[in-house]
Amino acid sequence: MMVQYLGLKAKAGDCLLFYRMGDFFELFFDDARAAAATLDIALTSRGEHEGKPIPMCGVPVHAAEGYLARLIKAGHRVAIAEQTESPDQAKARGGKTLVTRDIVRFVTAGTLTEDSLLDSWASNMLVAVAQIGDFFGIAAADISTGYFELVTVTGGALEAELARLSASELVVPDGFVELPGAIMRPRADFDSVVGGDMLRQHFALNTLDSIGPVTRAEQAAAGGLISYLAHAGQGKMPFLKLPVRREVHEHLLIDQATRDSLEINSASKGGRTGSLLAEVDRTITGAGARQLATDLAAPLMDKAKIDARLALVQWFHDAPLTRDAVRAALRQLPDIARALGRVVAGRGSPRDLGQIRDGLDAARALRERLGAMADRPELLDQLLPALDGHGHMVDLLARALVASPPTDTTQGGYIAEGYDAALDVLRVAGRDGRQAIAQLEARYREATGISALKIRHNAVLGYFVEVPAKYGDALMAPGTGFTHRQTMAGAVRFNSPELHEEALRITQASGHALAAEAAHLEELITLILSRRDAIAISADALARIDVSAALAERAAESNWCRPNFVAHPCLEIQGGRHPVVESALAKSGDRFIANDCALSPEKRLWLVSGPNMGGKSTFLRQNALIVLLAQAGSYVPATSARLGLVDRLFSRVGASDNLARGRSTFMVEMVETAAILAQATERSFVILDEVGRGTSTYDGLAIAWAVVEGIHETNRCRCLFATHYHELTRLADSLDALSLHHVRAKEYKGDLVLLHELADGPADRSYGIAVAKLAGLPPQVVARASAVLAKLEKGRAETGGLAAGLGDLPLFSAAIDAAEAKVDALREKLTDLDIDALSPRAALDLLYELKRAA
Ligand code: ADP
Repeated sequence: MMVQYLGLKAKAGDCLLFYRMGDFFELFFDDARAAAATLDIALTSRGEHEGKPIPMCGVPVHAAEGYLARLIKAGHRVAIAEQTESPDQAKARGGKTLVTRDIVRFVTAGTLTEDSLLDSWASNMLVAVAQIGDFFGIAAADISTGYFELVTVTGGALEAELARLSASELVVPDGFVELPGAIMRPRADFDSVVGGDMLRQHFALNTLDSIGPVTRAEQAAAGGLISYLAHAGQGKMPFLKLPVRREVHEHLLIDQATRDSLEINSASKGGRTGSLLAEVDRTITGAGARQLATDLAAPLMDKAKIDARLALVQWFHDAPLTRDAVRAALRQLPDIARALGRVVAGRGSPRDLGQIRDGLDAARALRERLGAMADRPELLDQLLPALDGHGHMVDLLARALVASPPTDTTQGGYIAEGYDAALDVLRVAGRDGRQAIAQLEARYREATGISALKIRHNAVLGYFVEVPAKYGDALMAPGTGFTHRQTMAGAVRFNSPELHEEALRITQASGHALAAEAAHLEELITLILSRRDAIAISADALARIDVSAALAERAAESNWCRPNFVAHPCLEIQGGRHPVVESALAKSGDRFIANDCALSPEKRLWLVSGPNMGGKSTFLRQNALIVLLAQAGSYVPATSARLGLVDRLFSRVGASDNLARGRSTFMVEMVETAAILAQATERSFVILDEVGRGTSTYDGLAIAWAVVEGIHETNRCRCLFATHYHELTRLADSLDALSLHHVRAKEYKGDLVLLHELADGPADRSYGIAVAKLAGLPPQVVARASAVLAKLEKGRAETGGLAAGLGDLPLFSAAIDAAEAKVDALREKLTDLDIDALSPRAALDLLYELKRAA
């Protein structure tokens, strides 16, 4: 067994090997240690290897899915080794009786189809990348739904494209550039010629032209992807639709840093809660949720396509009754795409067939309802035909299957009565047999006079007659027709010729019935497979309808507006809001202050200053989110929005903590800023927040200054730049497309009030110390800071330079004492004061004096 095990383990490579032994999957050696730790199950040992006990753990086969899910989530990959013959077959071979085993499947994050292992609302992408010359080919597939796409990028866009796809698993050829988490596969798998052949073969195409101008890099990546899938399924290929060829410029490019900082599909603390997606998502079906996530991850660049989506959203928006009705219908809808994925992967159950039937039936009803509506937008008219055309198959499935078919086929009972007369006869025979046995029991009771006599059934003996122990001897006597089978503690069990005959009839009948059901299932599966592309198209159409109605619902909830696209690069938002911040504030009963933004070719760079916590980053992000939502085909949180299409979106907000990745915060900030300066075009939109915060004031100001100039002079993109460096406002004198803005704040009764309201012009002061006070900094520190500030500002007034005058600043500890002494000196003066003795003039002079001393 060890030889067999080690052979399979060698084949499994760095995947954990699930070694089937009877009702368990066993793991050994390091696999056992890793699995036991991840799953928190007992680590035991079994036998010895090279004189040491072999660590072992096991999971029951019937519960394996749950354990698999946890291992995959923890980043493992698993090879499943099944017994490929029965113990009887092994015995028949003679000699050694070890049953043969082989790896039948690799379970990895990117090759899952099981419902229980997948999130219904997220796509599950397997991505392969290959390089030919300067080009990177990307092949991406979600095998749970069959989605498959190809795209070619140059180096600069690789990262953004991978970020868009957000792969669960990434495969690359051996020796490929370092990509985090990527799995290396043999270079030969990524050969472009072989890859092209694989594509043609898999889709039975004469030429790849029917896909589009597939590049060599894409063929190479497709080769890597298909080889990996064949490897994972050990020859059994999952469902792949004909690949969609994408062009990079079809999408608004967004790199990973920007996605993270805008919290598009997941929030910074991880998970979906708090993300834009979670805030916007009102979809009803799993397929709709996945489509929305895909839409937000890849907003469009084609005005006509965006407007087509928006028109459908508007149609649902303006007709709340239709919207409600459609959404109610969608609520009944099962996940057709994933059920189909399992059927194609060879793991389809009667339940999956039932889901496809019910889903397509609901789609047909939806088509009838929507088809009867007036003024349908074009996109809807394109989608409607896809909802129909399965009538024959749905009718057949409706006749063939019971109302809610089971997942498990071993008990039968999923083929409906009346579908197959022969099957019905077998079932009747089985039922009659059970009735005959009941009659036999009554007869035996009467004949023997033992009223406690029972006919029972178990898995080992089949049917038998059972009487309490005290009657055992009576039936044991010869000539009764009963033969002894088993003596238990309180009972004795017998067989009889009549019982044997009836039992045989029942087993045969149910055996034949099971076989007949299995044959029908096979036929139905074949039928579905022959129509899989059409079914997948219906599922996609339903997902698009779900997304459109959901976006309309979201827009109606918070008064969002339909954005307008124009040809020139502007961004004119009135009453813009940040959807996530707004709903967070609403929860605590606070109101979000809407703000306008007006970028145009003449004023394309806004410098936004103002106190910390004043709402600068919120303003920056809300405008980026509005662009993103608009180009994804959604209404936007504003009273009006007019914009020219954005080709790339960049966001560098705050000094995010990236120490985990082994770079200092400042280094990360600079790397990201460098990427923006290198890549932003005149059609890009950039938001930059507090650039230079991560280093010393001089460096920081110098860098921020130069970055603003670079963006203004070279990139010439639309940009919102938030800063606390007041000095930057001087740039307005030399940069004519730059305009100054600030978030308003005022002091009210000595306290700072942040108005979160944007106004024109520079901030009059920074209010930093007031914010510190607001945050609860100890009074003596606030006092000390005020003193330092006064000094600095005096220095600035004299020399005009940042931080000039710092030279003669006393030491921190000495200054704290001095500050406290000063506070006390003031107190003394005030205490000693005889107010009634002061003339108005003297009082005023005194006030000035006190103020200077403070
Ligand atoms: P800054 O970038 O200026 O430091 P933020 O944008 O981080 O400020 O905003 C700080 C806090 O102020 C936010 O967490 C939010 O609670 C609140 N806030 C920001 N903008 C608004 C707004 N427009 N209306 C209401 N509250 C806001």
